[in-house]
Amino acid sequence: MFDKFTEECGIFGIFGSKDSAINTTLGLHALQHRGQEAAGIVTFDSNVIANPNFHFADGLVADNFTSQEILKKLTGDIAIGHVRYSTAGKKTAQNYQPIIAELDLGFIAVAHNGNLTNAKTLRSKLIKRGAIFQTTMDTEVILHLIALSSKNSLNEKIIEAVEQIQGAFSLLVIHKNGIIAIRDSYGVRPLSIAQLGDSIAIASETCAFDIIGAKFQRDLANGEMLIISNNGLESLFPFAKKPSKFCIFEYVYFSRPDSILQGRNVYQVRKNIGIELAKEIKIDADVVVPIPDSGVPAAIGFSMQSKIPFELGIIRNHYVGRTFIEPTDRIRHFGVKLKHNANFEIINNKRVILIDDSIVRGTTSKKIVQMIRDAGAKEIFMLIASPPTISPCFYGVDTPDKKDLIASQMTNDEICKVIGADRLFYVSIDGLYRAITQTNRDNNQPQFCDACFSDQYPINLTDLKNNYER
Ligand code: SF4
Repeated sequence: MFDKFTEECGIFGIFGSKDSAINTTLGLHALQHRGQEAAGIVTFDSNVIANPNFHFADGLVADNFTSQEILKKLTGDIAIGHVRYSTAGKKTAQNYQPIIAELDLGFIAVAHNGNLTNAKTLRSKLIKRGAIFQTTMDTEVILHLIALSSKNSLNEKIIEAVEQIQGAFSLLVIHKNGIIAIRDSYGVRPLSIAQLGDSIAIASETCAFDIIGAKFQRDLANGEMLIISNNGLESLFPFAKKPSKFCIFEYVYFSRPDSILQGRNVYQVRKNIGIELAKEIKIDADVVVPIPDSGVPAAIGFSMQSKIPFELGIIRNHYVGRTFIEPTDRIRHFGVKLKHNANFEIINNKRVILIDDSIVRGTTSKKIVQMIRDAGAKEIFMLIASPPTISPCFYGVDTPDKKDLIASQMTNDEICKVIGADRLFYVSIDGLYRAITQTNRDNNQPQFCDACFSDQYPINLTDLKNNYER
């Protein structure tokens, strides 16, 4: 079982590009870390009044979208795409995104990063009104709300629909004349825009701009609705203003280290977390070893601050495919060794500081600690570059139930014993905030969503209150 929180989706769009499908394929490839289960691209040709072109596939973008046959089919100068890891909705073929629908104003398609917290409540009401759902995804609720709106223009219909949804959402809506990009009023999930010649690109993370040579312009503001068409860019703020609650876990683990989030380089933030960790705990040890890849920047920061040498004491195999991610019984006993191997010369006879970004269930940490002990470590200190994860996420991240989060069930000493380390230490919540903002967490009004560390959920969990399952 994958022992990490898992981001659910990445989205990418481009307007005014003769190579819209290729650029979207490349953009989605750069966002692949946000979802590896399936991908989809929808294109329109603004010069021809026509139906959308589309292609969906299970698996990785590079394996399924790069053939000439598929790219030729995806003609047009406007495109949006989506990579997904299923959270809201089952892993079935009809749950591909972007979701396409024909409205009275023509075809549209929607790509969504995030999770709606009142989707089931709305869905139940819509079904009573006669709506027939084709998928189990929360995103389909948005399409039904747009379709049922009595407003005249597409923009007005979308505004009316978005006013009814709650939760975290960065949305791209494509239609024959352009793209409409929306970020929820709390700004939970990232969404940025860039310029590529005369084209406009929009993506979950800025690393998707680098691959196509687009120049990053800015993040979409919280609650912004950006209308991109042949008339240029129009920015509207039609939704109720809310306090900013950007997901702090994007910095800890989800986003790529080379992305810029809210003006901050993710790699630098992760290094800062390591520096804060080293300020908070003094340990006498011989080497600092990251659990690759996500523990690397924090380990570099810790080593810089503590002056204990950084070493690659664990080597990661990058070629673990889906078969190994969902192992059969026959190969299950290889466990963590499918992905990680101890670098014996570095570990043997040493006092080792292991650094990871987070502990979720604790199952992987236990195996890695055992592996390091088997390689001859004298002492093992496990340091975590985030506070204890005590609560699940309802805003677009695949997380286990609370009862399966080891830190919600045990004290630090108990977890330390279970994973077999000599000492376990987490960075404090203030230390995490300082690594990002140079200031402590404001307890009255936290500057980010940090609910998985604090159990304080900033956005209504309406479905949960109405007893709908997650
Ligand atoms: S609960 Fe909040 S901080 Fe944690 S993963 Fe979800 S959105 Fe991010």
